[in-house]
Amino acid sequence: MGPRSSERVGARLSWWAPQVLRIAGIPIRIHATFLLLLVWIGALHWFAGDGATAAVEAVLLMCLVFAAVVLHELSHALVGRRFGVRTRDIILLPIGGVASMDHLPQRPAQELLVALAGPATNLVLAGLLFGATALRGGAMSIEALGLVRGGLVIQLAWINVSLAVFNLLPAFPMDGGRVFRALLATMMNRDRATRIAARTGQGLAVVFGVVGLVANPLLVLIALFIWIGAAEEARQTELSGALAGISASGAMMHDFRELTPSMTLGDAAAFALDGWQRDFPVVEDGVVRGLLTRSALLRALAHEGRANYIAPIMDHEVVTASPAEALEDVLSRMRDRQASAALVVDDGGLVGMITPENVLDVVELSRLRPASSSPGARR
Ligand SMILES: [Zn+2]
Repeated sequence: MGPRSSERVGARLSWWAPQVLRIAGIPIRIHATFLLLLVWIGALHWFAGDGATAAVEAVLLMCLVFAAVVLHELSHALVGRRFGVRTRDIILLPIGGVASMDHLPQRPAQELLVALAGPATNLVLAGLLFGATALRGGAMSIEALGLVRGGLVIQLAWINVSLAVFNLLPAFPMDGGRVFRALLATMMNRDRATRIAARTGQGLAVVFGVVGLVANPLLVLIALFIWIGAAEEARQTELSGALAGISASGAMMHDFRELTPSMTLGDAAAFALDGWQRDFPVVEDGVVRGLLTRSALLRALAHEGRANYIAPIMDHEVVTASPAEALEDVLSRMRDRQASAALVVDDGGLVGMITPENVLDVVELSRLRPASSSPGARR
């Protein structure tokens, strides 16, 4: 699968996915459900009466396929790194791999190379595996793809070919969708390119779905996966387009309450109950000392007395921004630190606060404005 820019997915998934490996500084995580898949495949062969050897071989093949998936994702990540894009982690799911990149390169040529790196790796692997078999005098027929006949190496080689072909389908969320978008983006602006690529993906999903209903239920599942991926990509790009050109000061709230370090949990609870505000800047003599989040407050209230001070439980590592900074950069820092709010500071003094909720409001409002600027022109 492809490199994804949506870390929200990664953050939600990583709780179930312990890190098992670190390659080139990138954590490789395996989702718990992937282990279930291995057990399921082994059990399927065992109960079908194939014997222990067949069951072990099937599980081994699955592990090797996923090693190929890791290499696929890793090549996206390493080519991305050349263009200054950091990859947070790679998560292995039963449906494939996801490389969570901080952002995707905006230049079509760079996006093209990042997208092509994955399928290219599978083709190189297939070539190496076929080559190794040929050297040993093995058969290279397509019949060898049959799951019972054919050696493990040949099966793995054909699976790598199909991984490359499947990923090159010109539809989001596959790499081919990104290749398609990058090619379109050389001729038009990125938003329009995304819309066309997303619509093509959804068209393909419909074809897959209809064919799948008649031929193979697995295709229906893939169709659903493509449909959702295409919609998500279109939404992400639209969001990113809406945020472009907005500064921190353009999205910050001015009307919020501040606490002081000498306040108690009881004081803070009273403030929290009194209004809509979830997170509170803690300010002393005009200087930001920290941020008291709702979750930290609730945790503390569950374990400590209401007379305790808020200073020990507030977050000292606050995400701050200057008013002129690009909103997208602030949001990216908030994601990095998993912060629920950023404080906008000017001349050392607190002037505003940015939360995901009010950013969404800003995006909604910008949609109501008649489009005057070209959203495709960025940076
Ligand atoms: Zn990929």
